[in-house]
Amino acid sequence: MSTSGVTFSVERNPSPLSDDARAAILAAPGFGRYFTDHMVRIDWTAEDGWGQGRVVPYGPLSLDPATSALHYGQEIFEGLKAYRQADGSIATFRPDANARRFQRSARRLAMAELPEELFVGSLQALADIDQGWVPNDPAESLYFRPFMIATEVGLGVNKPSSSYTYLLIASPAGAYFTSGVKPVKVWLSTEYTRAAPGGTGEAKCAGNYAAAFVAQAHATAQGCDQVVWLDAAEHRWVEEMGGMNLYFVHGSGPSARIVTPALTGTLLPGVTRDSLLTLAGDLGHVAEEGKISTDEWREGNASGAITEVFACGTAAVITPVGSVKSANDSWTVGDGAPGPVTMQLREKLLALQTGQEPDPHGWMLKL
Ligand SMILES: *Cc1c(COP(=O)(O)O)cnc(C)c1O
Repeated sequence: MSTSGVTFSVERNPSPLSDDARAAILAAPGFGRYFTDHMVRIDWTAEDGWGQGRVVPYGPLSLDPATSALHYGQEIFEGLKAYRQADGSIATFRPDANARRFQRSARRLAMAELPEELFVGSLQALADIDQGWVPNDPAESLYFRPFMIATEVGLGVNKPSSSYTYLLIASPAGAYFTSGVKPVKVWLSTEYTRAAPGGTGEAKCAGNYAAAFVAQAHATAQGCDQVVWLDAAEHRWVEEMGGMNLYFVHGSGPSARIVTPALTGTLLPGVTRDSLLTLAGDLGHVAEEGKISTDEWREGNASGAITEVFACGTAAVITPVGSVKSANDSWTVGDGAPGPVTMQLREKLLALQTGQEPDPHGWMLKL
């Protein structure tokens, strides 16, 4: 099979799921629970570089217990989706941006960088063989999870691994909001930090998530849905929400201004965040990067200067923030319901991703 000018060998799954069993899964896929019949694997060694890309049956990996990823956490990942288009074809959104971010994450974790054409080619190869797994409902999608692990065997800790394995798996994803878009309640975390200057906050690495679970559990214990991360030094500047970026809406109607925290090195540079800076401009809004403190957030909601707040990322696209709680405060964002600018941006982005509207920026790639 040749895609993106790259050739992948194909070993077909001898016992793929039956059409009926797959249809039953696609009727209620949830998120990240079921996986398609195949996966892609590409190995890298210091001696030979990247090897042959292979489409193989989905299945367990066999790893020596001394494999370095299991001990020192050299693991990075990505997340992006394939959408069934209005014309029945399959397309994905800005895969080049994910490919480049995967390379930047690899550099930060001292791992081998996967060439962009292998990254994009792997998506095409898997979408081609498992196309029956892409849901037809435009509210659903096939979620791609590219990731890479360090595979050198041994416990030496003084140097990065001399071998890596890139894998791509895919999982059908149901509509994120099944009964209408529901705003989340957020907890401003002052006891835990996601990222510090010079750390790995800009990289999509497994360790960032491992370190975040305790803060998420703390937020849940406070009756909140999600944790909001603040800067490490002052616990004052708003950075992100869970695994999503944040936007603050000032004013209303066509002249609304939307502001997202600037990329200081401790924020994950989301593809959705970046796309909204452009899309909001297309809709006539002013979109900018800035700096916002928790005091400004509270006062802005009290005075009405900040009308809406929302989070954005590949999995949920856009999620409104309805209320905020911290150790000594709690308040409502607007009237607590999803705001009009939030919903307009959400519908605009989804219409573009599902091919219901034209793609003026050339963001969609047919798979
Ligand atoms: C992946 C991720 C995001 C969102 O990035 P998208 O490319 O928009 O999906 C935001 N914050 C964190 C911490 C993430 O891991």
